[in-house]
Amino acid sequence: MGKPHRQGIGQTSFQLPPGVSFEKQLLPYGHAYIFRHQKLGELGRLVLHARSDGQTHVTCEVVGDSDDPMTAQRAALFKPIGNDLTQRMEYALTGKATPPGLWDEPPPRPSEPREVVKSKLIPCERCGANVALLIFAPPATDLGRFEDYARKMYPQIAWLDLPTYIIGPPQGDEPLPVRPAEVWKVWPKREPVRLLRPDEFNPMMERLAKTHCG
Ligand SMILES: [Zn+2]
Repeated sequence: MGKPHRQGIGQTSFQLPPGVSFEKQLLPYGHAYIFRHQKLGELGRLVLHARSDGQTHVTCEVVGDSDDPMTAQRAALFKPIGNDLTQRMEYALTGKATPPGLWDEPPPRPSEPREVVKSKLIPCERCGANVALLIFAPPATDLGRFEDYARKMYPQIAWLDLPTYIIGPPQGDEPLPVRPAEVWKVWPKREPVRLLRPDEFNPMMERLAKTHCG
């Protein structure tokens, strides 16, 4: 990780904490700056909403389910950045200083396309009850991107309350059936990411399916 350098958004220049980066996203009603952290994944975004009266409204949003303990961690990192930038941008746009506290519900606006996440439930061989949840995360090439999937799927993961594994893309040049992938068990407890081949991972699932009613 290099030393933090000053970056500009619009007419403002600021310093980001180490590990935090941003990218611009175009929206049907304006644009946004999406902030992410190397290990925590997406933190939140600053939305510039072009309104019909010609004004631009700046809002700041933290991503994640409020029940997810990771949301508080991401918010702690993002809120100071977001608050600071929101005020600077409001000032740049309107010439007026605005008080902090723009963390209320974002204004109603058109819905955005939602990403479809592929997942699979593993059933018990005998009673058919679900014994595990697999979540496929082909873009998960680093910890931050694994976190993105844990965050997006949090409501389902918590509601199903099954052993849950997030599976990254296959790695290396071996034939596909033996190519390993990073597997992250995130529920009921977060465990370290492991690099597993299909012939290591699949028997774990078969064991779960066999022992439920065993
Ligand atoms: Zn069973």
